[in-house]
Parts: sequence; structure tokens; C-alpha cells
Amino acid sequence: MSEFDTLVQQVHNCTRCTLSQKRNRAVPGEGSRTTDIVFIGEGPGFYEDRDGRPFVGPAGKLLDALLASIGLDREQVYITNMVKCRPPNNRDPLPSEIKACKPYLDKQLDLIQPRVVVALGRYSFSKFFPTESISKARGKPRRWRSFIVYPMYHPAAALRNPNLRPALQKDFSNLTSLLKGESDTPDESEDDQSRQLSFF
Ligand code: URA
Ligand code: SF4
Repeated sequence: MSEFDTLVQQVHNCTRCTLSQKRNRAVPGEGSRTTDIVFIGEGPGFYEDRDGRPFVGPAGKLLDALLASIGLDREQVYITNMVKCRPPNNRDPLPSEIKACKPYLDKQLDLIQPRVVVALGRYSFSKFFPTESISKARGKPRRWRSFIVYPMYHPAAALRNPNLRPALQKDFSNLTSLLKGESDTPDESEDDQSRQLSFF
């Protein structure tokens, strides 16, 4: 079994936090394990918990459409969440739950070694930049250790508040030039900027 398969198995069997008690299925994540781009959401909702797959409900449909709008599908990227088990009634994940689940996400990022990590929503963004607000930071790629963090609104937020949708669409369309290495990223070395993603 690969290290990644072992990790997935550990998530399915995990009891590190109390979210394990009410879950139907843990949702480790899915997609390409050799991709340049990882999407991180908040946590599974009703449909994700039922199916054991990330972003398969209404927010997932919007994410699929946004990916399609830039010529990508979910098999080409990796999609996961801050917490791998559904918080009851879709409440926000607690800091203790995020902390308990963190080793899995960190290991996923270690194994995939993406160039771009799209942080969907404030929980995901706060993993990297805990003191900043998503509404100010969205759409601006930043260097974070070995990869670029690209914050965006969460698709579920754009479903609840249609005013956020144009911003989300715009940020997705700019992802294309970011992936091609055409956009400015603060702190990025020249070497990184001239390198194109293997993906294209
Ligand atoms: N919202 C998330 O944050 N993650 C999912 O997987 C689905 C909805
Ligand atoms: Fe384990 Fe994460 Fe699920 Fe908590 S949310 S039980 S830490 S896999």
C-alpha cells in the first residue's frame, strides 16, 4: 500500500476527534495525487458525509462548473477539506477539531507537493494566514513555504450570497494565468516565476 493509501485508510478509521462519532463516512479527499493544484474546503456536508466524497452537494456542483469554466475537471486536481468528517448540522468546525485533523491535511500536502493551493473560504485560508480576512485577501496569490496559496470565497458562501459570485468567478479565471506562471506573486523567486506548471 502506498503512503497515500495508508493515510486514506487512517482517515476512514480515525477517532482523533468527536466528529468521528456522528459521521456516516469520513471524506479524505479525491482527485489526482500528482497534481500541481489542491483545493481545500471547510468540511464535509450532508451529501459528502453520505457518499464519502468531497464537494458532491450544491457547493460541489458550483465548484465543478467553476473548474469547467477554466477547462479543468476534478480528476486533474486534488480536492479535500480542513476536517475530514462532517460537523453535525453543518456547524462550523471547532478549533480543536481542525487541530486534531491537521496532520492528515499536512501529510496530503507533503505527499502531493502542489504548486498552488486554493484556500476556499475563511477556515481554509486561516490555516495559512490566521489573522487576515478572506474578503480582503481573496484573489491575491501569496507564497507560503513551498507553494502559492490562492484564497477565494467558498462556493457555498457564493450560493448563499449571490453578490459574491462575480468575485469567485473572476478569481477562478485568474487561476489560469497563475498556473501558467504569468501572474505576480509576492515573495516568489524569479526562478519560480519563469517555471511553468507541468500540468499544462
Ligand atoms: N463544503 C466544503 O467545505 N466541503 C465539502 O466537501 C462540501 C461542501
Ligand atoms: Fe479524525 Fe479528522 Fe474525522 Fe476528527 S475530523 S475524526 S480528526 S478524520
